[in-house]
Amino acid sequence: MQEEVLILGGGVAGCAASIALARNGRSVRLIEREPTSRHKVCGEFLSGEALEDLRALGIDVASLGAVPIDYVRLAAARRAAEAPLPFPAASLTRKALDRALIAEAIAAGVHVECGRSVQALASTTGNLWRATLDDGATRQAPTVFLATGKHDLRGYTRPKDPEQWVAFKMYFRLVAAQAAELANASELMLYPGGYGGIQPVEGGVANLCCVAQKRHLARLGYRWENFLEKIQLDCPHLAMRLAGAEPLLPKPIAVTHIPYGYIRRTTEEGLYCIGDQAAVIPSFTGDGISIALHSARGAVSAYLAAQPAPLFQAKLRSALQAQMRLAEFAADGLNNSLARAVLPFCLRVWPGVMRVTARLTRVAAGNTAVGTQAVAS
Ligand SMILES: Cc1cc2nc3c(=O)[nH]c(=O)nc-3n(C[C@H](O)[C@H](O)[C@H](O)COP(=O)(O)OP(=O)(O)OC[C@H]3O[C@@H](n4cnc5c(N)ncnc54)[C@H](O)[C@@H]3O)c2cc1C
Repeated sequence: MQEEVLILGGGVAGCAASIALARNGRSVRLIEREPTSRHKVCGEFLSGEALEDLRALGIDVASLGAVPIDYVRLAAARRAAEAPLPFPAASLTRKALDRALIAEAIAAGVHVECGRSVQALASTTGNLWRATLDDGATRQAPTVFLATGKHDLRGYTRPKDPEQWVAFKMYFRLVAAQAAELANASELMLYPGGYGGIQPVEGGVANLCCVAQKRHLARLGYRWENFLEKIQLDCPHLAMRLAGAEPLLPKPIAVTHIPYGYIRRTTEEGLYCIGDQAAVIPSFTGDGISIALHSARGAVSAYLAAQPAPLFQAKLRSALQAQMRLAEFAADGLNNSLARAVLPFCLRVWPGVMRVTARLTRVAAGNTAVGTQAVAS
């Protein structure tokens, strides 16, 4: 059986696109390699735009237990400053979010195949795309949405990540006083070679998600315990948060190769690239999910309007470029030792700067017009 659209990857972008396409009467098959939703490396911050897009898809994050996030706090060296977020935000584990998205896709009539991994993608002479699965079976369609997130398909790889970033996520149960102080806040912590965020998620749990350049980890023997100890030494605010905390996973989840700043230049006819396969914004912005949803919505609009995929990809690129440049510039600042040394003295002005940066690094309303046709999402 052949559908009109094949979606490779059932994370945020893939599910969002599949739901919108199915609701617009298209036959869609989605292939996701994980048999069930699982924890993913992610700060799990949902920005205002992400919340709006999720609501439009029928995902009520509050009913899934999402924690409202009202403040952002920056901690560098021994200082911390906070600012109210200029938009509504929330946090929710990816396990819960991805599960809800897959369920919504099934309800919308998408043919979902979980536990099947795509090994190869090729265009055939009959203007079809053919995906080959792990057991050799194939699935064909005239149009493919590539949404495999951090994982590249052979032949469609993104550029190397020169800084060799490594990201970790660990859940903790904080002691009561620390949990109360963290409530409704997302905290960004700076340390040499990277940064990390801690915020509450559902179930009274805190998510610590951090990134570091590989060379810094090499000095620590690539050991999580050494890294965790070092970042607490460098950032006493984190040490305070984690004092007496109980780790909830046997070991952290980790991911490597994160090509921050990447925006796909072009694509082939009939192949729409969305989510992290389209653009990878620095994690501290907490904007990756929003971009994944935004790019999915734009690609669906483009497809329904018969806009060629290369044109969609070029429009998406120009819509995201300014936001990406600013985020990259800010990330360089966070990773600069001089900036880190100076930041504690600037913390009095920082809340204002954070408010502005938070606004500028999000997908602005005027940036959303990558497709033209109204989409029922
Ligand atoms: C350290 C870190 C922290 C982050 N924190 C935040 C944050 O707080 N807020 C935020 O908004 N964003 C954050 N992001 C970014 C966010 O996680 C991503 O931008 C977002 O998940 C991209 O969505 P996606 O659908 O492209 O990919 P994903 O959600 O990763 O989904 C891709 C899916 O494709 C599947 N897949 C992969 N390969 C195959 C294959 N071969 N065959 C079939 N299926 C396959 C995977 O199993 C997965 O389910 C963070 C990223 C990092 C690295």
